[in-house]
Amino acid sequence: MTGTGTASVALIGTGLIGGSWVLALRQAGCLRGPVSGCGRSVANLETARERGIIDSATTDPREAVRGADLVILAVPLGATGPLLETIRDVLEPHAVITDVGSAKQTVVADARQALGEGAARFVPGHPIAGTEKTGAAAAFPELFRGRQVILTPGDDTAEDAVAQVQSLWEAAGARVVRMSAAHHDEVLAATSHLPHMLAYSLVDTLSRWSDRDEVFAYAAGGFRDFTRIASSDPEMWRDICLANGDALVDALDRYMADLAELREAVRAGDGARLEAVFGHARLTRERFVAMLES
Ligand code: NAP
Repeated sequence: MTGTGTASVALIGTGLIGGSWVLALRQAGCLRGPVSGCGRSVANLETARERGIIDSATTDPREAVRGADLVILAVPLGATGPLLETIRDVLEPHAVITDVGSAKQTVVADARQALGEGAARFVPGHPIAGTEKTGAAAAFPELFRGRQVILTPGDDTAEDAVAQVQSLWEAAGARVVRMSAAHHDEVLAATSHLPHMLAYSLVDTLSRWSDRDEVFAYAAGGFRDFTRIASSDPEMWRDICLANGDALVDALDRYMADLAELREAVRAGDGARLEAVFGHARLTRERFVAMLES
């Protein structure tokens, strides 16, 4: 598909992630067929068209996918199941369908439920890249360069479909790894979903303190860095929490137990304990940053 450049694409959800992937594919010369964009708001579709992400726009998903060789779902997780139900009987039999959702077990279940045997051509994916911005205006083609993309095909997923999706992510500059959907959800609960809970909850809590104006007036760069992800889209994060609830509750429980220990160390004036936790955390972060930069 990428070699001939004949693929026609339906992009459902012309926002940050879907828009960035299509822009990268265009830049890499992979998409010489038309891209039909589908979304909810006409204004965002118009921005996607103006920015050269899509060639045509519709708010009807069935119209978008008719005749498409590749269907990309880049919508909030809660929209995945209903959209697959809506498009299933107009999909081309050979079409490859993929998604970019931040949790994978519910997506796999949605695909099985909606597509039945056709789920063999559905390739679940998740790029480990993003920003706190949303919409077609925020899309940029370099977003996935050097970043990882996790694919979670099952035993019944067609290998040619997985290979096509993998090559399209690689064309966007990403490194592709494969793992089970369950493992993906467990790992991402810890490294992505839990930190978003901390950022949202910290800002929300402080916003309700009686002297909040003063609290924010004296907040500095560290606070801004730590809370950047609290600017992420609430609808998207509502859906991620609902989709990965079990793993996220487990991660929150583990974190709250450690936070309670830290609280106790502060209350008890246990400086040695505090220094040990901070020292271990600093070393761990330094190793993590070195790994990212290597
Ligand atoms: P986004 O910029 O808000 O884009 C989502 C798009 O989906 C919007 O343009 C929205 O259209 C459209 N949409 C929502 N419901 C729809 C429906 N029922 N039918 C058709 N279109 C619909 O969000 P995003 O950051 O690209 O996120 C998309 C997916 O990527 C999510 O599943 C998220 O979990 C995943 N993801 C996000 C990140 C990240 O850092 N942002 C990273 C990795 C994966 P309107 O604008 O018209 O409402």
